[in-house]
Amino acid sequence: MVDILFLGTGGGRFNLVRQLRGTGGFMLMGRHLNIHVDPGPGALLRLLQANRDPTKTDAIIVTHMHIDHVSDAPALVEAMSGFTFKHAGLLIAAASVLDGDKHGDKSISKYHQMLVKECAHFGPADKKTFEISRQPKSGSAPSSPANSFTLSGVPVKHDDKSGFGFVIEMDGVKIGYTSDTEYIPAIHNAAYAGVDVLIANNLKSAADGIPDHLHSGHLIQLLKAAKPKLCILSHMGMGLIQSGPEAEAARIESASGVKTIAGRDGYYYCTDRCGWFRPQKEKKGKGGQEEKAQSKLGE
Ligand SMILES: [Zn+2]
Repeated sequence: MVDILFLGTGGGRFNLVRQLRGTGGFMLMGRHLNIHVDPGPGALLRLLQANRDPTKTDAIIVTHMHIDHVSDAPALVEAMSGFTFKHAGLLIAAASVLDGDKHGDKSISKYHQMLVKECAHFGPADKKTFEISRQPKSGSAPSSPANSFTLSGVPVKHDDKSGFGFVIEMDGVKIGYTSDTEYIPAIHNAAYAGVDVLIANNLKSAADGIPDHLHSGHLIQLLKAAKPKLCILSHMGMGLIQSGPEAEAARIESASGVKTIAGRDGYYYCTDRCGWFRPQKEKKGKGGQEEKAQSKLGE
């Protein structure tokens, strides 16, 4: 079982500045590991607002160097490394992020790269199983259980040539993430075939002549061919946000035959059986214990 917490389902330069929808990426939460993907502006704040502890982050994946995917990564590295007091955590990122783009600009400084325990370059042709040894809890036995996940890169057609989409396998669940890309049928149809969940960065409802991003017309083609069990729309641009993401998801589902839902900021999707939910505010239980309630909103 993996819970996916959406910290930002908005995309595009207009939404980035207006913040109609957040741009904090999403967190994959497995049995033991918390993996933050593409932490753009507001990721840290959104995480705190969701009552999550940023220091409990085990890995950060940055798929490319654009600001709406990486700007909060250094702050989260500081959280992941125990307020910078230890070398901890795994940072996986595109070469442009770690080494610099065509202008030499690094999205994550060398200082922050050196704070983590492991810093891994990753690209669209890579496939690797990562293993993370967790720190034993204080007072427990010194042995620390290892947890692993496998990441398979998927090529993108986007401004950042070193960027990548991916399929991640963790806790028996396969989750695909397109990242920012134009549709490449010959590659994407096979790469995302049969995944349990496909998170699609679907910027627009229709083509408008601006390249480098998915729109609903191409997403429908991808879903028809790849047949994921579920598609979740994210990284939606201002036009799509204002015209109604739920209606767009219904239209895509009807045309593709694949169950499709629109991502929502601050909501979780649980891959097991609880579906789509948002935790309610913590309240006092009978015994004075804090307890968390969840509001299930249906799948
Ligand atoms: Zn981008």
